Amino acid sequence: MQRHDPDLIRRVKKAAPLLVIISRHVTLTGEGDVRRGRCPLRMDMQGGFRLDLKRREWECACCQDKGDILDFVQIYDRVDFNRALAIVAQAGGVDLPRVPGGPVRPRGGLL
Ligand SMILES: [Zn+2]
Repeated sequence: MQRHDPDLIRRVKKAAPLLVIISRHVTLTGEGDVRRGRCPLRMDMQGGFRLDLKRREWECACCQDKGDILDFVQIYDRVDFNRALAIVAQAGGVDLPRVPGGPVRPRGGLL
């Protein structure tokens, strides 16, 4: 798996529009720092999903899962870490560096 710079990951998480990303899957209610909703993965009549905007973390009492926005996208969009990072970065307007090992450009071809 390709490693990303921890600083970049921090930047992506900080820029992430949590409400926008999470609202794609969970209808959130409430105001202030804590929002609640129903787990999108299970029959959740209790509204066990909880988002803490101040700590930028979520937890779901239904799944017994919790984490940050990257964990959320990995679980709820069913993608791997790199894909989740790309999704969250795009939503937050952060440019990711080109993936090393991707298509290689011939060097100096035009010079
Ligand atoms: Zn859940």
